[in-house]
Amino acid sequence: MSAKGDLIYVQASDPVIQKNGESGGAVTALLKFALEEGIVDAVLAVKRGIDVYDAWPVLITDPKEVLETAGSVYEGTLLLSKFFGKYLRGAKEMKIAAALKGCDVMGIFEQAKRGQLNLDNLLMIGLNCGGATTPSTMRRLVSEVFEVDPESVKKDTMYKGHLYITYDGPKNGPQNDSEKDLQKDFSIPKLEEAGYGRRSNCRRCKMKIPRQADLACGQWGVREELIGKSTFVEVCSQRGAGLIDRAREAGAISTDIPDASCIKARKRSEDAVIKLADNWRERDFAPLQSRRGLLAMMIEETGRCIKCYTCVEVCPALFNTTKPYMTAFPGKVPPEFAFHLLRYAHVAESCIDCGQCEELCPMDIPNALFMHAIEADLEALYGYHAGEDMLLPKFAIMKEPEI
Ligand code: SF4
Ligand code: SF4
Ligand code: SF4
Repeated sequence: MSAKGDLIYVQASDPVIQKNGESGGAVTALLKFALEEGIVDAVLAVKRGIDVYDAWPVLITDPKEVLETAGSVYEGTLLLSKFFGKYLRGAKEMKIAAALKGCDVMGIFEQAKRGQLNLDNLLMIGLNCGGATTPSTMRRLVSEVFEVDPESVKKDTMYKGHLYITYDGPKNGPQNDSEKDLQKDFSIPKLEEAGYGRRSNCRRCKMKIPRQADLACGQWGVREELIGKSTFVEVCSQRGAGLIDRAREAGAISTDIPDASCIKARKRSEDAVIKLADNWRERDFAPLQSRRGLLAMMIEETGRCIKCYTCVEVCPALFNTTKPYMTAFPGKVPPEFAFHLLRYAHVAESCIDCGQCEELCPMDIPNALFMHAIEADLEALYGYHAGEDMLLPKFAIMKEPEI
């Protein structure tokens, strides 16, 4: 019997899922099993779009289609939390299993706090996440640093501080080279120093193992000989434990116990990325603490705003709040700074640093940096962390603003 807190290796039993899925296909096998057994009505996941740089969210009700979501799409910078409220009626009418990164899970908690989502109907399969790179940066990186044709890339993986790409051999090379996959890797810190690499919010993110989900799945701590063949799973809830037990009994997965050295190795990997995130926070927040200060920088940067409302629409902490922004500041572009102050006040301590408001801002205004800096200060003052559990009486419930 599994229990909350267990650490296990999981592999898919189906050889096709094992081959196509990431790290032995555990996540794909568990999602498929949950749908087949009627534990959930649908699966929300991301599948490869037109190429390896493109991520498509899909809602699946036929278990056979779950296989299409096998494997990672690291350049997919989607945030899935808002999909539940926007398109899936807050999971209030159907049970949904979803494969979710740390920021997705944090966004889900922020929405649940606002009554926009029914957590009881969600089965959350968390994915450990070292960070995401935008598709355009990844294409540049592959061609300029790896010196590989971006179209030939089949897969990329972040592991032990390195970015690995697997790609087709050169078409005009020797027969053997053209037929086999080639691999190259570069150190992520070096790539980032050179201006490539993860999104700035991902560099500051510490939610690398999403323990608020039912299961947290990833590669860290997998024994050397099992790398690529097995997933290290932390059981984070009784619901997650129940899924593992049922899937194992039905023969959909097999499990193994990691030894103490592997558990320590996983902890070391997590500590290393958290330390890196601390360094990036120090570096990113330092200019905001200068004599000019955060407020002056915000006023200057938001002076480019074209009032498109994207930062309001995409933020998981702001739900159904576009109207007040539209009616309160009519007819002026750029809007008065109060337009932004209103948003900062509404998000305040709830920013989960998902990066959406910055990545999708057409004027490249560093919205996420500003919001995250404020949230990090509040976190230090009050010990509160956005996107965490529901037992947060002080700040938890933000009523929909009325203006
Ligand atoms: Fe991963 Fe965190 Fe970036 Fe989300 S914000 S993609 S969890 S590193
Ligand atoms: Fe202004 Fe950018 Fe927000 Fe659009 S996304 S309203 S341009 S800050
Ligand atoms: Fe994400 Fe920006 Fe909202 Fe923070 S303010 S939660 S970074 S969209």
